[in-house]
Amino acid sequence: MRKFLLLALLATTAVAHAAEPAAETPILLRPARVFDGTTLHTGWRVLVKGDRIVAAGSDVSASGAREMELPDTTLVPGLIEGHSHLFLHPYNETSWDDQVLHESIALRTARAVTAARATLMAGFTTVRDLGTEGAGYADVGLKEAIDQGIVPGPRMLVATRAIVASGAYGPKGFEPGVEVPQGAEEATGEDIVRAVRRQIAAGADIVKLYADYRWRPGEDRRPTLSEAELRAATAAAHDAGRTVAAHSTTEEGMRRSIAAGVDTIEHGYGGTKEIFRAMKEHGIALCPTLAAGDAVARYQGWNGREPAPAAVELGRASFKAARAAGVTIIAGGDVGVFAHGENVRELELMLDAGMPAREVLMAVTSVNARVFHIDDRVGAIRAGLIADLVAVRGDPSTDIYALRQIRMVMKGGKVVRE
Ligand SMILES: [Zn+2]
Repeated sequence: MRKFLLLALLATTAVAHAAEPAAETPILLRPARVFDGTTLHTGWRVLVKGDRIVAAGSDVSASGAREMELPDTTLVPGLIEGHSHLFLHPYNETSWDDQVLHESIALRTARAVTAARATLMAGFTTVRDLGTEGAGYADVGLKEAIDQGIVPGPRMLVATRAIVASGAYGPKGFEPGVEVPQGAEEATGEDIVRAVRRQIAAGADIVKLYADYRWRPGEDRRPTLSEAELRAATAAAHDAGRTVAAHSTTEEGMRRSIAAGVDTIEHGYGGTKEIFRAMKEHGIALCPTLAAGDAVARYQGWNGREPAPAAVELGRASFKAARAAGVTIIAGGDVGVFAHGENVRELELMLDAGMPAREVLMAVTSVNARVFHIDDRVGAIRAGLIADLVAVRGDPSTDIYALRQIRMVMKGGKVVRE
């Protein structure tokens, strides 16, 4: 009996050893500056062991660590894209309708794999991907492939299909009654709770709701989901520990979203002083997506010169009004409308619209992490967090354009771009 126990114990030990990864050599990063998510420090070093940051500060040293010299650079937390669609590609290549109607899920997934890689190489180690826009639950599979190391890409928070009011979303213009591929899951009344739960069961980390839209092409945007539907969907999502992102560009859609208690409002172009005051009061963050409006205006012929088209001006004005009201601003560009890997574009436009570089840098790191409830893992440089780190030449806390001068990207302690 004792002999058996001993053998069993040995067997267990052997298995435990086999499962352990080989002891990794710690890495001591020596940049010129460290932006920890809120503050810039000079003379700091960062020690990484395995997939974690184990120390950060001016007195950090480690014998036996591999030293990585990063002269002239600033080390920042891995950037967090707040609003992407990895399953869409720029509308000047293929219209949204044609992507949804004519591109197979296999084709769209293949593109999404390259989009994920481009995003990671641009220093974005996490994305909140707000809907596959007709590609079903393929985002869940892509996320798994990235997590399993099959393809390179950022950590993904996924929304799967997103939810729209029945009949409110495209593509449009077909013989009524003919079933055509849809850009999101349609729901009405009580049915919306079923849709929320179905998507969460299938892998949704976030629930995305369209609070308003154009009912038909060429029309003004109008509310789509009722306040009761938004409330029911939000409550079901919150019960399951998921956050809710509401697409809304009208005053009424935003008012209903705020009343429903969503976590973030996407776009928010129609926000008034009162609406932004209410967002501030309820702790709801705004994702301004300035880069999407900018890109669409250029596709429609704008050469980028001032004065900008009315739609671009509206985006800037609502962004300024939200900031003036003290609304939490997260950083998300609606990437997919424009090219993946160009995520920094949104940050440049936030700067142009009056937000200081340091606040923009906070938005895309620590603020996004807090609003997305992932700040216990990413979004800052401090001991215990996952080692998602980006080194850029120059100082992005005073010059946001420095984020385009990437010297090194590390995800989970592994250098993925050098
Ligand atoms: Zn979007």
